[in-house]
Amino acid sequence: MLQVKRSAFFTVLAVSMWFSFQPAAQAAEELVVYSARIEKLLKPLVSAYEKETGTHIKLLAGKEGPLLERLKAEGAKTPADLLITVDAGNLWQAAQSGLLAKVDSKVLNENVPAHLRDPDGQWYGLSVRARTIVYNTKKVKPGELSTYEALGDTKWKGRLCLRSSKKVYNQSLVAMMIADLGEAKSEEIVKSWVKNLATAPYSDDENLLDAMAAGQCDVGIVNSYYYGRLKRKNPNVPMGIFWPNQNDRGVHVNVSGAGVTKHAKHHEAAVKFLEWLSSAEAQSLFADANLEFPVNPKVKPDPLVAAWGSFKQDSINVAEAGKLQAKAVMLMDRAGYK
Ligand code: FE
Repeated sequence: MLQVKRSAFFTVLAVSMWFSFQPAAQAAEELVVYSARIEKLLKPLVSAYEKETGTHIKLLAGKEGPLLERLKAEGAKTPADLLITVDAGNLWQAAQSGLLAKVDSKVLNENVPAHLRDPDGQWYGLSVRARTIVYNTKKVKPGELSTYEALGDTKWKGRLCLRSSKKVYNQSLVAMMIADLGEAKSEEIVKSWVKNLATAPYSDDENLLDAMAAGQCDVGIVNSYYYGRLKRKNPNVPMGIFWPNQNDRGVHVNVSGAGVTKHAKHHEAAVKFLEWLSSAEAQSLFADANLEFPVNPKVKPDPLVAAWGSFKQDSINVAEAGKLQAKAVMLMDRAGYK
């Protein structure tokens, strides 16, 4: 019996030694990616990278919340090397929960502007989404618009559409407003929005846009890519996009991004893939697939997106969206924003 165990042990030892002595170039690298971005969006990137490098990527797609919970539950046993998710609020949560590793990469620091990555290097933005103002062109002239806060003016009474405050996108929007303007001023602004609502907040940006196109309200706040999708589907829809706060803090931007997991079994390979995702080659694919803006400033957006013109972004680090999220949620509750 002992003999059998021993020989099994030596077989395992021999096999593992054989593997560890294989030259790195010959061993196909493997990478496990947990992604809250839909599979359709990531597949072309994964295929391109696999072809280019020979790395084999296992992709597990899921919703952002459950993926985070799964990572937490798996702990050190997780097979995940890289987490890709949306919203700086979620990336911040992942870092805060100790799920991500610090990465110090010259390539990433060069390709990703400082305000769109974690100051500690635990996550990096890969695409930019602007949460901006949209309007019904039959009812509103762009000259009537100026800032997010001006949507609280009495002239918009019964004309404003907002999405639910339960969505992390709006929590991040208000969190960044707190970072820029302070809590008291932000609360005043949110209260003035609530007073102007045309109808109860919408469950998602798409419903909001459809309602606006149908004339249920005149102005609203959505992520730029939802507007892009609507325009791509129906170029004649009477809607316009507006870049607010161009004379002060700039448009509220958020990111989709990624971080190498703390317990990655393939840390180096994960860093390499993350670096590649920030490169000019991958950035177009990554941003254009969802009509977002590339995070890498050297890369031009999709022509449909580029046609909306360039704009000044809020340059406060998007990590603030995570840090101030709890405060934002409480503020919106006090302001009666459902
Ligand atoms: Fe979205």
